[in-house]
Amino acid sequence: MSAENFSFQAEVSKILHIVTNSLYSDKEIFLRELIANASDACDKLRYLSLTQADLLKEDQNFKILLTIDKENKTLTITDNGIGMNKEDLKTNLGTIAHSGTARFIEQLKNKSDSDNMIGQFGVGFYSAFIVAEKIIVHTLKADENQAYCWSSTGTGEFSIDVSDKKTRGTEVILYLKEEESEFLEPMRLETIIKKYSDHIAVPLYLTKEEKEEQINTASALWTRSKSDITQEQYKEFYHHTAHMYDDPKLTFHYKVEGMISYSALLFVPSSKPYDLFHPDRQNHLKLYIKRVFITDNCKDLLPSYLRFVRGVVDSDDLQLNVSREMLQKNPILSKIRKGLIKKILGELEKTQKNDHETYMQIWENFGAVLKEGLYEDPEIKDTLLKICYFDSALIENKISLADYIKNMPEAQKDIYYITGDSKEAVAVSPQIEGFKEKNIDVLLL
Ligand code: ADP
Ligand code: MG
Repeated sequence: MSAENFSFQAEVSKILHIVTNSLYSDKEIFLRELIANASDACDKLRYLSLTQADLLKEDQNFKILLTIDKENKTLTITDNGIGMNKEDLKTNLGTIAHSGTARFIEQLKNKSDSDNMIGQFGVGFYSAFIVAEKIIVHTLKADENQAYCWSSTGTGEFSIDVSDKKTRGTEVILYLKEEESEFLEPMRLETIIKKYSDHIAVPLYLTKEEKEEQINTASALWTRSKSDITQEQYKEFYHHTAHMYDDPKLTFHYKVEGMISYSALLFVPSSKPYDLFHPDRQNHLKLYIKRVFITDNCKDLLPSYLRFVRGVVDSDDLQLNVSREMLQKNPILSKIRKGLIKKILGELEKTQKNDHETYMQIWENFGAVLKEGLYEDPEIKDTLLKICYFDSALIENKISLADYIKNMPEAQKDIYYITGDSKEAVAVSPQIEGFKEKNIDVLLL
């Protein structure tokens, strides 16, 4: 086969144009993105090998390797993960796969400051064109015989050819732009990796003077003890795992031991995820079993009224060979789900008591989602009502039911509410005038 040429999807071309023509203060994030992809590729293969052990035949130990070639000005990121075949290359590196990238495009429509936003969102694989004038990817998919080579200069087109790569996985070769030679310095790379990618659970090596030196801690962050983790590390992990680039508003890291055992590292974002009101109301928690990534699409792990929570849950009790389908209606999983709900609502209640301002910011973003739980889950209704806030006819701020009751005049026996299309519309309703005169509050729903 001789090389075949393809055009990038229009959105990709737009991204590439921005990426190659702007000046970025935090261009180093390209490395975070490529290492994240390499680590995802290892996770994917590890998951498949649970049921097809022979997929790992040639190489059981996952690793990511960075190599520098100063003479040719290349930086290469190699992994022995799942790899890609020709079809995969066409879709994955020719269209938009990354939810963060999709969001970036969404935001671009409203704002002009694309420079700062790249750092915030990361645009996945394509961010490598910030520093590279040409990228060549050699890749061999696990269990396939033919390797392929993808190459592009980041302008409109890419080409795919056969490759003679013999080992499973993917090798991304960046031909760095003249002015980006800082990324050929081992010290510089090491600093970036420590900053963004230390939590990557696959060992990461840098070739230094012909020797491979491991530079990350390579243990899953949630398995480490809290006292060994800095706020910065939690934050980077949140960015990585949630594909969100704000700061987490709340972080809960805990371990449950007993009838069932699991660890959880959960985050409440400080901004609204872009798909919060997407009709499928999907949660985004990542499920691991004994440190192996299983799925980020497990409907039963968390109810949809908590879908704004991000993070990971790692169970020691579920069977590693359980298929994603078998996770449905699994009794262990439903216990974990119960535990997670209790924990999250408990922590929210604690925040409401101890740090009211923070809680109200959370309510502002996610109150409407939490309220869905009031009619979806009768079991938690009472707990949930304690942390719900409502607009009031008498006071400016939102009010809790507890405060409503505390403020009631002696003679008032019931809680009053009025419903309508908007707060403004119901606030001026003549029906509530009489109540206001008697100093009786009415909740505006
Ligand atoms: P995302 O990682 O969020 O999906 P990216 O733009 O970073 O988005 O990557 C696009 C897709 O390309 C990935 O979803 C993955 O399927 C594929 N890909 C990228 N790098 C690798 C790699 N090293 N090994 C296997 N697949 C990869
Ligand atoms: Mg990625």
